[in-house]
Amino acid sequence: MYVMSKHTEDNTSCSILETSLVNLTKRLDLARVNYQNAMVLHCAMCNTVWGDSLEVCGEEKQLNSIICLRVTKDVVVKDELEFRVEGQMAGSTYKALHCSGCQCFVGVVPYSTPKHLSALRNLFLLQKENINCYNLRSGTMVKASSLHFDQSTVGKSIKELKQEMDVLAENLTAMEKRLKEVYYGKDG
Ligand SMILES: [Zn+2]
Repeated sequence: MYVMSKHTEDNTSCSILETSLVNLTKRLDLARVNYQNAMVLHCAMCNTVWGDSLEVCGEEKQLNSIICLRVTKDVVVKDELEFRVEGQMAGSTYKALHCSGCQCFVGVVPYSTPKHLSALRNLFLLQKENINCYNLRSGTMVKASSLHFDQSTVGKSIKELKQEMDVLAENLTAMEKRLKEVYYGKDG
């Protein structure tokens, strides 16, 4: 009877955790989508479409790059890993990206980096000076280098998300402890 009631309680905790996670994901999506100013990112050399602003999650000013979650298949990821010994990305391994249309350099995907660049790992960093942006609402093409891609709302959401994830992690640890007590006795 004791074990049964523990199980029910843990199931409830599980579904609360699940609901929280689903809500957080929805909120992040809402923060990210800004259809009003949606733009298509084009190769400045050959006009091939590389991505759109809905997949942009900010910019890295030091690297003069737009940070994208996803890009089109026309941004080709090179197979070999490269290593940089100098410059802003010193100490990083990355894969270079090139345009399928004109083979020009698009940017990089960092894989391992020094700590201060760790937030950029596995994201697409597209060189601003190689991009033109087509604004869907105004129908105009502008250079990406003339635009700002800071997304403070997303930054805020991520901060909130992290705080809530910390709480969830605490809850999970507590649940794990309780489960161990139930299955293996108090000495776990
Ligand atoms: Zn191109």
